[in-house]
Amino acid sequence: KILKLQSALNFSHTLLKEIVKPGDVVVDATAGKGNDTLFLAQLVGERGHVYSFDIQAQATQLTQRLVEQHQVEQQTTVINDGHENLTNYVKSPITAAIFNLGYLPEGDHKIVTKPQTTLKSVQSMMKLLKPNGIIILVIYYGHPGGKQEKEQVLQFAKSIDQHQFNVLQYQFINQIHEPPILLALQKR
Ligand code: SAM
Repeated sequence: KILKLQSALNFSHTLLKEIVKPGDVVVDATAGKGNDTLFLAQLVGERGHVYSFDIQAQATQLTQRLVEQHQVEQQTTVINDGHENLTNYVKSPITAAIFNLGYLPEGDHKIVTKPQTTLKSVQSMMKLLKPNGIIILVIYYGHPGGKQEKEQVLQFAKSIDQHQFNVLQYQFINQIHEPPILLALQKR
């Protein structure tokens, strides 16, 4: 089989597939249309759990409908609240979390993730994360405010103590139009 370099989005699923096991507790910080929530719910199975956040009711409704269609609603809690309020809902250690930063495709492009809330959420997750657990951020930054969020998230990621986390940056650097960046933070 020929190995092809994957897009940031596909690579996020490759990493999750390697790390998330049946029975795990995981977080989708930006539910959107629910694609990552569904993917995670299938990985954790009936004994595991996915907590899925979005501030837009449109997104949480789409996500709830998608998990019901695929009969994985039992292991999924879809929450219409900001991921910065994570600790109000998630009490147990987590194996993985994923963020897709930016706006909901085909939704209101003005409703976007913000650096302050994104970083607050990432910092709570870092505490909840199990050893070898992973936090993935797929950063889209072509929209207004996107560049500032990218810069702040990168600055934070670079400052994380290497004895506690391995931090990876993955991006096609020869593509036009702001190719997404994947960051992966793995607890040591
Ligand atoms: N992964 C999604 C999918 O597969 O469709 C796409 C996510 S989209 C790029 C980003 C989402 O983050 C939007 O739906 C937006 O409403 C949501 N969002 C923005 N700020 C948020 C916050 N503070 N907490 C949770 N979700 C937020």
